[in-house]
Amino acid sequence: MEHTGILKAAGLLRGDLTGGSLGVFSPIDGAEIARVTPHGQSEIEHKIGLAKQAFEIWRSVPAPRRGELVRLLGEELRAQKQNLGALVSLESGKILQEGLGEVQEMIDICDLAVGLSRQLFGLTIASERPGHAMREVWHPLGVCGIITAFNFPVAPWCWNGALALVCGCPVIWKPSEKTPLCALAVQKICDRALARFGDAPAGLIQTVVGERDAGETLTKSQDVAIISATGSTAMGRAVGGALAARFGRCILELGGNNAMIVAPSADIEMALRGIVFSAVGTAGQRCTSLRRLIVHADIYNPLLERLKSAYDGLEIGDPLAEGMLVGPLIDADAFAAMGMALAEAEADGGTVHGGQRVLEAQYPNAFYVHPAIVEMTRQTKIVGCETFAPILYVLKYDTLDEAIALQNDVAQGLSSCIFSTDVRETEYFISALGSDCGIANVNIGPSGAEIGGAFGGEKETGGGRESGSDAWKGYMRRQTNTINYSRDLPLAQGIKFEI
Ligand code: NAD
Repeated sequence: MEHTGILKAAGLLRGDLTGGSLGVFSPIDGAEIARVTPHGQSEIEHKIGLAKQAFEIWRSVPAPRRGELVRLLGEELRAQKQNLGALVSLESGKILQEGLGEVQEMIDICDLAVGLSRQLFGLTIASERPGHAMREVWHPLGVCGIITAFNFPVAPWCWNGALALVCGCPVIWKPSEKTPLCALAVQKICDRALARFGDAPAGLIQTVVGERDAGETLTKSQDVAIISATGSTAMGRAVGGALAARFGRCILELGGNNAMIVAPSADIEMALRGIVFSAVGTAGQRCTSLRRLIVHADIYNPLLERLKSAYDGLEIGDPLAEGMLVGPLIDADAFAAMGMALAEAEADGGTVHGGQRVLEAQYPNAFYVHPAIVEMTRQTKIVGCETFAPILYVLKYDTLDEAIALQNDVAQGLSSCIFSTDVRETEYFISALGSDCGIANVNIGPSGAEIGGAFGGEKETGGGRESGSDAWKGYMRRQTNTINYSRDLPLAQGIKFEI
């Protein structure tokens, strides 16, 4: 489908796409596909005010009824899956299969949130005093600001939004300035769900378009109780600092530098598929992309040869075309960053295979690259950096402790994995002595998480958790209740205080 057809099918109208000052470019060919209008500070403050009013109402709507809105949202997303998936592909450059997968993740988290709306469980706790009961209950926290990155233009909004809504929190979304169209299209889908729901308060689900300053307005507002921010570690430092200064709650989902250990006992066919998907998928522009491959010395050479030939066969090109595996980088800056990283790795003694620009004649304004494999003799500074491009550094190891030490010796702590059929190795890897990451997988690559588990990572990845497990608690406040149903007033710890 032509670009204009995709925009139209996603429900975007002429007024959404023209007349603004913020240019939106498709990484597929570098063409400008829209000029959207950013919201000014006073407009954003107005939206925050509306969301605050919505909170007053929404927090007392029974949670299962709040779940009904998210159920309708899931239905609307199902109906729009193909069109929204294509828009994700057009605006972010990921292959259509991954665009559709992102929308499926939205649907999945809606399903999870609907069930959750009847399961916002607290605790009953044994009291030390006779005739007393203790409980822990969860209440909605307040307005939730959601700041997202270009590489996952829709799913992270929903990981947060679906949960926040059932938890009783209105949401305001500030998407990446590189992918505002996906957000505008999702807002329209939400508006349809809201209309079907009927009596949701105005301002419950809103979007603000803008650059960093729009995110800062949300971050600084005392009326935004929670900020969930997905993006670079640099962004997280700024957002985390601003939230700490006002004691706001923040959920940070930042950069990763993910590794795979391939042990001698690994099923090499499986490992190969795992490596290639996680290293070149989304053209290496996932927070969970595989960036460091740590291979046992005994299998290093044969694995590397297999990997190089798999890389030689990669289909690189238009991400909307059937069978394509690698789409473009997001823009010229990403291409320049890739080039600089490869040059630095080479200067550090690395041997680079691939990494060159391709399809330049066909797409002079877009940046397609052949994914790079870089053999390194040690983990240098550049290997420790998250370069958002398909660069796979390969390192050799002799002992598992050495491999785990290498894996953990970076600033980020998002995702990790081991390919091994030795249960001693795999259990050790996921034990307290093993991987220090938020995600540690066995015989699966580091990317492509399911929504059922909490998603996020440690260290410079920010420590936040989204999606499944008990991540919903991030949008609620915990309240401890002690209820005295006796006719006496005993004090805790046996303290005597007679008046
Ligand atoms: P980015 O940090 O440049 O921008 C992310 C978002 O933050 C954008 O919406 C941007 O406008 C906003 N922003 C930037 N500075 C801000 C500030 N000071 N205050 C408020 N908002 C601000 O990131 P990007 O280039 O869009 O995305 C790539 C990065 O995101 C990578 O580091 C990647 O690992 C990370 N990422 C992490 C996850 C995760 O779940 N851990 C998921 C996707 C992407």
